[in-house]
Amino acid sequence: MFNIVKGTHDVIQAEAQRYSYIEEVMTNVALNYGYKEFRTPVLENSDLFIRSVGDSSDIVRKEMYTFEDKGGRSITLRPERTAGIIRSMVNAKLFANQDYPVKAFYVGPNFRYERPQQGRYRQFNQFGVECAGASTIERDVETIALGYTMLKVLGFDNLKLKINTLGDKESRENYKAALKEYFSKHIEEMCGDCKERFKLNILRILDCKVPEDRPIIDKAPKIGDYLTEEARNRFEKVKSYLTALEIPFEVDSELVRGLDYYSGIVFEFHYTASNGNNYGAIGAGGHYGNLISEIGGPQIEGVGFAFGIERIAKVMEDDSLFPELANGVDLFIMPMGEKAVEFSFGLAYVLRNLGYSTEVCYEAKSMGAMFKKAERREATLALIIGEDELNNNMITIKNLGTKEQTQINLQDLQSYLDNFFDIELESADDSECCCHHEGHEHGECCRHEGHEHGECCQDDDEHEHHCCHGHGHCHHEE
Ligand code: ATP
Ligand code: MG
Repeated sequence: MFNIVKGTHDVIQAEAQRYSYIEEVMTNVALNYGYKEFRTPVLENSDLFIRSVGDSSDIVRKEMYTFEDKGGRSITLRPERTAGIIRSMVNAKLFANQDYPVKAFYVGPNFRYERPQQGRYRQFNQFGVECAGASTIERDVETIALGYTMLKVLGFDNLKLKINTLGDKESRENYKAALKEYFSKHIEEMCGDCKERFKLNILRILDCKVPEDRPIIDKAPKIGDYLTEEARNRFEKVKSYLTALEIPFEVDSELVRGLDYYSGIVFEFHYTASNGNNYGAIGAGGHYGNLISEIGGPQIEGVGFAFGIERIAKVMEDDSLFPELANGVDLFIMPMGEKAVEFSFGLAYVLRNLGYSTEVCYEAKSMGAMFKKAERREATLALIIGEDELNNNMITIKNLGTKEQTQINLQDLQSYLDNFFDIELESADDSECCCHHEGHEHGECCRHEGHEHGECCQDDDEHEHHCCHGHGHCHHEE
């Protein structure tokens, strides 16, 4: 027995399917907002994070998995994605060759040496976006709207969106001076981390999670009182846009985020499950002013956010927000006897190529045992092939839902199945939504994928009819 590495977790079977579902919904909404996928390495040169995330952040100070490789380079397992995504844009010269903003979405694991607890792992997954080359308020709010929409499509109600502004440089300098004065009177009573933050980056103190420090922090000066007129107007405009989009929010003047590159608007999405479970922010992001130029790009700004897939999956489970995700197979072949096994082996290959998910029972001999296995595999139809069937070129088909049984000619099998699954689809399809069977509510996913009913398939030369037939595959593919 080997133990799993502390702070990591296996995501397997149904849970992996739920993660994929979350990622698929988020991907569709991101595509709808004009984002393109980026896949960047897990390994980056350590300097990238020291420069961008900032050496006053907890991440760089104590959470990075950094090691020297055999060539003597300092390598870090990415603790976050923004820096790597921007680096990839710079390296690919996208800022020189493409229109602004360059919009990226990503999904995958990050690594932070944190104290493991509920909703906090050392390897965890994020889905996030970066909109680079964006300085307008509209892009900031568009990005918040994108994150909000992803969560709404996943079924979240009663979301709590917290926003704050870190202002412009001048506002921040004024504010930091006020904080310095205030905390200089209290820092001796505060935690060791805060003592360091006091020296390194005083704003970070507001992000302290030590409960004993909170009363002191709560009485600290508020950024709102130190904003320049321009920064104040900007923040007001963000609020009025959110109101116009009917996206509920609250201003949290202590929200500063854990990464040093943020400036301007910052935000977090929170959600408490009905059983009271709350694993911290499920997603967070903000505007960054200098990050792109620090990484070697032009002096342009950006905005982005990242969702924590683990936390989202947990609260969705708590509140039963997942739709029933298809788990069964279309066809379960039951061969009786050696010849039938050989025949079934080839038949399964053909049926799978036709788009029907198919399992063959090689592991049981009796009918009773095979039917039990078919049930556990949640099969729709059992295809029974025995000696009689082989001799007469027939096949026995049992509908495992209705228990009806029928015999057909083998040569009619394809048309029988096409007909059966088409009819099954129609009777289940009480809407015109082409994605009904993917486990989304009617209308929800299609709107965000940008297709009307039927369109997604017609546009696609490979398919004759529906793209989302039955259990999500294309029975009508050539
Ligand atoms: P927190 O305040 O909870 O530590 P953070 O400020 O470090 O979060 P970000 O770096 O902005 O968070 O990451 C965005 C999201 O990624 C978080 O809102 C959270 O959902 C998720 N996340 C961050 N760290 C972890 C972790 N160690 N384990 C699981 N999810 C995480
Ligand atoms: Mg953190």
